[in-house]
Amino acid sequence: MALSKDIYKAFEDVVGVENICDDPAIMPAYHSAELGAVILPKNTAEVQAIVKLCNKYKLQFRPVCTGWTGMFPKGIIYLDLRRMNRIIEINEKNMYAVVEPYVISAQLQAELFKRGLNFCIKGAGTNCSALLRGHGHMDQTTGGDDRNHLAIEWVTPEGDIVRSGSLGSSDEWFCGDGPGPSLRSILTSAVPPGVTPGVFTKAAVKLYHWAGPSVYPVVGVSPHYSLSEIPPNMMARYFSFPSVEKMWQAELKIGESEIAFELMGFNISMVAANITTSNEEEEETFNRLNKEVQGPGFFVIIAGDSPADFEYKKRVLEKIVSEADGKSLKAVEDPRIEGILMCQCTRISASIRETFRNGGAFNSIPIMGQRDLTIKWAIGAGKAKEPLIKKGLIMDDGGAFFGWGVEQGHLGKTEIFCKFDPGNSEAKAAVEGWQKEQNRRAFTERYFASTMGPQDEIGPALLNYHLWWQKITEALDPNGVSPSAGSLV
Ligand SMILES: Cc1cc2nc3c(=O)[nH]c(=O)nc-3n(C[C@H](O)[C@H](O)[C@H](O)COP(=O)(O)OP(=O)(O)OC[C@H]3O[C@@H](n4cnc5c(N)ncnc54)[C@H](O)[C@@H]3O)c2cc1C
Repeated sequence: MALSKDIYKAFEDVVGVENICDDPAIMPAYHSAELGAVILPKNTAEVQAIVKLCNKYKLQFRPVCTGWTGMFPKGIIYLDLRRMNRIIEINEKNMYAVVEPYVISAQLQAELFKRGLNFCIKGAGTNCSALLRGHGHMDQTTGGDDRNHLAIEWVTPEGDIVRSGSLGSSDEWFCGDGPGPSLRSILTSAVPPGVTPGVFTKAAVKLYHWAGPSVYPVVGVSPHYSLSEIPPNMMARYFSFPSVEKMWQAELKIGESEIAFELMGFNISMVAANITTSNEEEEETFNRLNKEVQGPGFFVIIAGDSPADFEYKKRVLEKIVSEADGKSLKAVEDPRIEGILMCQCTRISASIRETFRNGGAFNSIPIMGQRDLTIKWAIGAGKAKEPLIKKGLIMDDGGAFFGWGVEQGHLGKTEIFCKFDPGNSEAKAAVEGWQKEQNRRAFTERYFASTMGPQDEIGPALLNYHLWWQKITEALDPNGVSPSAGSLV
């Protein structure tokens, strides 16, 4: 649905003829053949001018960083932010970095590693934007989701520029709150289904200590990578346990002793997916490793600041694991496999095979919260998958869930997948039914309240937050030009 010539010209006057396009041959490369136009602003002033024009002409827009997610209604203006790709500042002393939307996580992390620093990277991969929030493999030491944004520069859906927290009062990026009432919770909900309307044009993210090498000694040719040697004072292991309870007790103690750089509760099918390069190899590896593990388990990376610190952390880990009757998976003790996993799970390229292995589609229920409660809920959600597996509607992964520690176990993440053939409408309906039922069960049995659960029940139990969010977005976006993501995921 092309724009009229006059409207197209108004946008073209903002960004220049080279940076706007509605060519039907190009549009499909941008998620949809029916976009109004793709526009590539180069800075905040251009974003603001575009957003104001969208309000003037009542046109919906959607900003895109690296574009892993999204459905785009007909005629929408697609704001491709790839020209806004600068790391503005790395503040080593105060431990934050300021980035524009198209700085990808790999780019920022490479710069940070050279300085002994690191940051939270979405499990989706280092190819995603460093600016949007998310959670991932390193949350044990980097926190996750809404915990990492500091000050933000934001173009509101009406085209005003808001500089939140310390940026607004002192021109510095170190704090996301105040002075006075804070906008932080509105501004940091940028992962579907909760997406902030408007456009973030710059954001400061927290940095953390990195004890590993400035560059990994990667060897091999795609897809057969590994490390020529395991970096000094680092170790990666996978431990399985006789029961969920024993695994959970070990997780708690590891958190309390703060020895793990990373604690990622992969199930064994995810380990198999990560260390193999084809579906055939993966199936063979899964069947082999599945016989070796004694039950559920987790993957751990230890990173010492010195040889003595490393020895201490290893000894504490050994004690905790042996007290919980844990067993180390031999395959991961092989330095080639250890190197692959260490690199994939800190440079974050693991999810792509874990998630999309064997093709097909998946629905998942992800939840951040108190890890023991979410684990108990996930065991039930796994059991509820069994009849669907028996009927052949979903893939047999043993009902497995996975999850990880966040902030040394103060929080945790648990997630469970249902993989199915998207061409099979019966399977799709069954998976959607499972998802609905398990989200409802989580709430009615008081494990947690998910935004994917029954809002008519959850909303009133949580101070009607859903109605307040609706009022806030209507107030911020009176012309409805910045559609909220719930409808667009
Ligand atoms: C295989 C797979 C695995 C995943 N695993 C994880 C995971 O482990 N952890 C996790 O946190 N997420 C995960 N995700 C979700 C992932 O974080 C989102 O897809 C993420 O948004 C991708 O980042 P992006 O940089 O490509 O964002 P985009 O797709 O560009 O944008 C994501 C959303 O934010 C909005 N947006 C984009 N730029 C801006 C901006 N500048 N201002 C305001 N809004 C903006 C977009 O309109 C869109 O709604 C996964 C997704 C996939 C497909």
